[in-house]
Amino acid sequence: MTDTSFIESEERQALRKAVSEWASGFGQEYYLRKARSHEHTTELWDEAGKLGFLGVNLPEEYGGGGAGMYELSLVMEEMAAAGCALLLMVVSPAINGTIIAKFGTDEQKKRWVPGIADGSLTMAFAITEPEAGSNSHRITTTARRDGSDWILKGQKVWISGVDQAQAVLVVGRTEEAKTGKLRPALFVVPTDAPGFTFNPIDMELISPERQFQVFLDDVRLPADALVGQEDAAIAQLFAGLNPERIMGAASSIGMARFALSKATDYVKTRQVWGTPIGAHQGLSHPLAQCHIEVELAKLMMQKSATLYDNGDDAGAAETANMAKYAAAEAATRSVDQAVQSMGGNGLSQEYGVASMLVSARLGRIAPVSREMVLNFVAQTSLGLPRSY
Ligand SMILES: Cc1cc2nc3c(=O)[nH]c(=O)nc-3n(C[C@H](O)[C@H](O)[C@H](O)COP(=O)(O)OP(=O)(O)OC[C@H]3O[C@@H](n4cnc5c(N)ncnc54)[C@H](O)[C@@H]3O)c2cc1C
Repeated sequence: MTDTSFIESEERQALRKAVSEWASGFGQEYYLRKARSHEHTTELWDEAGKLGFLGVNLPEEYGGGGAGMYELSLVMEEMAAAGCALLLMVVSPAINGTIIAKFGTDEQKKRWVPGIADGSLTMAFAITEPEAGSNSHRITTTARRDGSDWILKGQKVWISGVDQAQAVLVVGRTEEAKTGKLRPALFVVPTDAPGFTFNPIDMELISPERQFQVFLDDVRLPADALVGQEDAAIAQLFAGLNPERIMGAASSIGMARFALSKATDYVKTRQVWGTPIGAHQGLSHPLAQCHIEVELAKLMMQKSATLYDNGDDAGAAETANMAKYAAAEAATRSVDQAVQSMGGNGLSQEYGVASMLVSARLGRIAPVSREMVLNFVAQTSLGLPRSY
């Protein structure tokens, strides 16, 4: 029998083509115009929802497309390759949609998933805290019981898109009744809840989605704000964090493709010694190297999404980390090489590659830093001792 597992199915190729054609209609010019004027990409988001792209991974029963992370990562990659890498794709359908669809009550699924799928509802995700940083075990946002309600108190930082979101999935902790030990727990917090406030952080990143400091000052939530079990939140969280890493990889791969395509078009025609500059190996070799690195990262992303969709969470975790790492490195190098290949034009606004220098680099820091991925691989894949 012929093994076709490395070949993308016709259906998936058709989805790629549809997303690519549609997103190119918006393109980088639209994305940067919105980013530079601090406007939201509402038209893009709404259309992505209506066309079924946003919720492609979510269950059909709750308004989604019934496909998997493979398809959602493909949507992300093609949008980024068209110059429209939206951070909220990583957050709203991939992390939050997945967690609620997997662990929410029927009521919670009915309430949140259809809106996440069709884009009429955007949900941000907040785990990072100023004091805890990469060490999520140190988060201190705490939920205490008050009758059947929860009272949430704490602070978050770097949270993307809070101003565009109707709700935020907040990772906090509850006190276990028996032992008094604090355990992670997930809460859906409406952004208009009394006591919930947020301030934008000025970033050098050129993106239509801004980052925020978030303050939860005794935010009162009903009992059903808690998603999933109080005592199984780590597993529930990881169900959302593997998709986050796969999507981070997809975004980096799309960005790298965008930059390499701009650079290769440019070096094919630009001549300074009577021959296209792309003929000089000083440019063609690093561009070829970047292309190889992008294709390899993509293969790992596809493997990870396939493992995830087949229910192999451990296999997906290892490969999602590797894919995210490889894709971020490939994107950082590809964008830098694209700028270099285009000389002065590489730094101009007109050619659109310098605007990606920071966003490509972001992949090395978020959603999980390069060093934390290397720690994970050293300990999990290689069995090396932990240093921290
Ligand atoms: C643009 C942007 C958007 C973001 N969006 C969101 C969001 O929507 N929601 C959310 O919850 N968070 C978000 N984040 C936060 C992001 O996940 C964190 O910035 C990231 O996890 C790193 O945490 P930190 O910034 O606190 O760095 P730190 O944890 O302070 O780390 C600083 C440096 O030290 C290194 N380091 C730390 N510990 C170790 C170790 N044990 N071994 C080796 N090196 C180590 C890190 O790798 C890093 O290089 C976003 C961040 C950015 C920049």
